[in-house]
Amino acid sequence: MKNKAPKLSITRINCIIVMLSVVLCCFVSGCGKKEGYVTKQFFAMDTWMEIQLPESCDDKDLELYFNDVEAIVRKLEACFSVTSTASDLYKLNNDINENVTLDSKELLDILKEGEYLEDLTDGAFCDKLYVISKEWGFTTGNYKVPDKAWLDAEILEIQDIMDDSNTDISVDINESSVIRPVGTCFDLGGIAKGYATDKIVDYLADKGINSAIVNLGGNIYAFGDKQGKEDRFVVGITDPFDNTLLGTVMVKDMAVVTSGNYERYFELDGERYHHIIDSTTGYPADNGLVSVTIISEDASYADGLSTALFVMGLDEAITFWENNRNSFDAILITENNEIYYTEGLLDNFVMTEKPYTCKLVK
Ligand code: ADP
Ligand code: MG
Repeated sequence: MKNKAPKLSITRINCIIVMLSVVLCCFVSGCGKKEGYVTKQFFAMDTWMEIQLPESCDDKDLELYFNDVEAIVRKLEACFSVTSTASDLYKLNNDINENVTLDSKELLDILKEGEYLEDLTDGAFCDKLYVISKEWGFTTGNYKVPDKAWLDAEILEIQDIMDDSNTDISVDINESSVIRPVGTCFDLGGIAKGYATDKIVDYLADKGINSAIVNLGGNIYAFGDKQGKEDRFVVGITDPFDNTLLGTVMVKDMAVVTSGNYERYFELDGERYHHIIDSTTGYPADNGLVSVTIISEDASYADGLSTALFVMGLDEAITFWENNRNSFDAILITENNEIYYTEGLLDNFVMTEKPYTCKLVK
């Protein structure tokens, strides 16, 4: 079981950081050029996004592609926003009927994906925690620690809805409508960027592009060959303890998505409260992990699983990987400075010099 990941010398780190400039980007707005790629950044879904396309593309085409990609994201944002009163999701969350017909195919689609992930992860992924996230202030910025009795009651209700044997209060997503108990409020924050990434990748493939980096607020997709050569992209993994470079993975046609407790949080009376909620307690997940990176061909799946495995904690997350090992790889970092990485990363996860224990999961 135990294994040490190969370590890098400082000179090699520098070298990798140079290569990494493809993916580790300083977010300035507008367009720019970088090592064979033209980049465009924009702010959407509450985060910076960056798209890199080959500079060998025709200038006119590039402009069209960048505009279309931004339009894809903005359309999904307008549909999935949990706070904008004009969004399709807002209308669903506030509809007083049990059976709601939806115009948005994308909303039905992502809700189906959410139900799939919820079943697969036994409720660790739960897209019905909006009322709870809101009470904590994660959607408004008015942070507070909710009343425990209130949280317990809410979680009980949500668990009842998730329990498939409770057929009279379950969630049913059909071709054009959603049936759910009135008051069920969905929050797609755990999967929306992954879903948007998949849509962008489909679009780029459709346009015949053979190389791109899609980076939606750290949800990265390395598409095709690096600069059209037979080369994988090098993607940096952040050290959750100090925000420096922890290591790299080399990937092609893969999403690399990280969830961590250091990304969005507030502090009160010396306690830190982060935004990934344990669906069994209503409190921020506190199961020993500080960061989970998922590497998978499917960006929505990777996004959903990074959130879910963070909630599960180390042991459950490893068991989950063992049962689903063909669909993803993972890097799990514990609060005790241990790094666990799964077998598929054996030849392509490289650690920087760090005083952490590194274990291969087989
Ligand atoms: P980020 O969006 O910061 O990259 P994640 O992908 O892990 O991080 O998603 C966290 C978001 O997912 C939260 O802000 C919230 O909207 C939603 N969320 C919180 N807890 C859960 C959960 N247990 N299952 C699914 N979604 C969750
Ligand atoms: Mg996620």
